[in-house]
Amino acid sequence: MIIDVHTHLSTRQQWGRRFVEVIESGRAGHGTLDLQVTPERHWAAMEEASRAVVFGINSIALGMNTPNDDIAAYANAHPEKIIGFMSVDPNDPDALDEIDRCVQDLGLKGIKMSPVYQHYHPCDEHARRVHARAEELGLPILTHAAFHVIPETPMEWANPLLYDPVAREFPELKIILAHVGLPWSTDAMVMIRKHPNVYADISGAVSLRPWWGYQALAACHENSVMHKLLFGSDFPICTIPQTIAALRDVNRFTHGTGLPQLPEDEIEALIHRDALPLLGLA
Ligand SMILES: [Zn+2]
Repeated sequence: MIIDVHTHLSTRQQWGRRFVEVIESGRAGHGTLDLQVTPERHWAAMEEASRAVVFGINSIALGMNTPNDDIAAYANAHPEKIIGFMSVDPNDPDALDEIDRCVQDLGLKGIKMSPVYQHYHPCDEHARRVHARAEELGLPILTHAAFHVIPETPMEWANPLLYDPVAREFPELKIILAHVGLPWSTDAMVMIRKHPNVYADISGAVSLRPWWGYQALAACHENSVMHKLLFGSDFPICTIPQTIAALRDVNRFTHGTGLPQLPEDEIEALIHRDALPLLGLA
């Protein structure tokens, strides 16, 4: 079983001009990444997945706009496999109405969020009302609590530790810290160890930044929280096979050294983890 909790469905235009410009400049280190993701391309890329969570990103600040209706149309065409999450910008005055519409009319199951892309502090009033509604409706949130390279975004709001007050105020809210909080992976580890309903996905970590990924996993292993890590590819940034291959190769840094080995059974358990019951999505 492969459950991919982190995949994107946005056309090049929907990602927004600024995001495309920065990614295609090569500064994010993604090489010649094709950002044009159609439902057909996404479906083909999910061949190895048993289930996949899919979303767009909507950001007023960065002009990113993937209609939640597009995500829902795709998810509802493949209900046996695709789980659609909405993206709601907390700075949108109609954010709560949109959440309700996405649940009631569109059948979306969670919320993709991002303080750095959407320009909010995780504890500000706009975010708090979204977190409160998500907790009330049992919607897990997947949040980009990690770095990226768009110069004008507020990187000081990206750190996973900013979710400590969120998890204290909303203890039933399921929170996934994307990319194991890279480069603040020890902070992400602290969060998933401390809070029963906080998890982290490993997308973009081991596959794109294997040395950071190794260190993130080693910290989680040493602190006995490997079971709080969820499998994600971040498609189209990486594919499922690339992510699996990188995870199975993560111990190469330890060869000929005294660095701790990550147990193979824990790596396989991560690859095959059923995240859905953990997130209340089963
Ligand atoms: Zn992503």
